[in-house]
Amino acid sequence: MIPLHSHPSGRHFLQIPGPSNVPDRVLRAIDNVTIDHRGPEFGELGRAVLSGMKKVFKTESHVIIYPASGTGAWEAALVNALSPGDKVLMAETGHFATLWKKMAVKLGLEVEFMDGDWRHGADADKVKARLQADTEHAIKAVCVVHNETATGVTSNIPAIRKAIDAAKHPALLMVDTISSLGSIDYRHDEWGVDVTVSGSQKGLMLPPGLSFNAVSAKALAASESARLPRSYWDWKEMIAINAKGYFPYTPATNLLYGLYEALDMLFSEGLDNVFARHDRFGEATRRAVRAWGLEILCKNPAEYSSVLTAVIMPEGHSADAFRKTVLTHFNMSLGQGLSKLSDKVFRIGHLGDLNDLTLCGTLAGIEMGLDKAGVPHRKGGVQAAMDYLAGSAAAPAVKAA
Ligand SMILES: *Cc1c(COP(=O)(O)O)cnc(C)c1O
Repeated sequence: MIPLHSHPSGRHFLQIPGPSNVPDRVLRAIDNVTIDHRGPEFGELGRAVLSGMKKVFKTESHVIIYPASGTGAWEAALVNALSPGDKVLMAETGHFATLWKKMAVKLGLEVEFMDGDWRHGADADKVKARLQADTEHAIKAVCVVHNETATGVTSNIPAIRKAIDAAKHPALLMVDTISSLGSIDYRHDEWGVDVTVSGSQKGLMLPPGLSFNAVSAKALAASESARLPRSYWDWKEMIAINAKGYFPYTPATNLLYGLYEALDMLFSEGLDNVFARHDRFGEATRRAVRAWGLEILCKNPAEYSSVLTAVIMPEGHSADAFRKTVLTHFNMSLGQGLSKLSDKVFRIGHLGDLNDLTLCGTLAGIEMGLDKAGVPHRKGGVQAAMDYLAGSAAAPAVKAA
């Protein structure tokens, strides 16, 4: 068949904050024959990816892999550790925190939602005050989104842990790292997190379809008496059979091939280098945004996200019309504003498989798009980013011959 439209040359720029660009190596790995998930080869693969994921979460405890989107892993965290009517304290950081809260309500939990302005992270002082007031220990869990993908704000998880400890409160700490794991430093054990939730399609550079729980001994003990109904998500059967590298139901075998490859890429670059690379991209992007004279949504520089930057559109201009211009003319997808930020912000994803030039191309597409869409701005954003990238130390992209 003759195509009605010519194929756009060059690669599509997928600069939304997840799904992120999937590296060729990962795509090639996924393109292998599906094997018997009860056969001997599979056990080796299962053990390798489970142990690799422990290194990424920085935990000695259990990691669970579900064939599910991140939303499934949210549900798994709640239903394994809690009982109907349990009180949970959740922080309103943005759209994703709000979705997790809605899920908790649907599951029959009693949620106290600490309100936020969608421009700051979770407030550790508020958590501490609220827990200190809960002398009966009615609150069973504190839930925080590490990197709020709707706003580009990263919450300080060690500060939340300290707040819980200062209040001498036994609540479990649950953290959503769906958009931060593999891009921003995260330490499940050291930070005393009980359940960490994550997903495959953001920092881990995989297609959507896998999600994760990292589970502390305390969370596992809580699951013994927790009474929310659960079956598919049950940690117990998973952990028992995972010991030999197998799963209680058919796993997403081909995505696990991809995970094996992605883990190899992350470890060969070195997790600390991966985090430093993302920090540089975040800083370069913010310099571009400031040079354009536009406003960054995140108000607290200590909470700037290294995964994405949300940019406020000038009054009277549509963020969605601008994104459409960029897609039409430059074949690049930028993230849309979600729920109350709809049409008011656009989000620049700078996570996963990208390098200095990918970022420069992304920022060039935005600068040209601002011009084409008639959005008031100053020129020189790309130049500001280039000056920073060329002048700031980074691990060599390619080893010298
Ligand atoms: C993407 C995302 C989710 C939702 O994950 P799905 O895979 O779409 O179910 C939840 N929380 C955060 C922080 C996210 O970035």
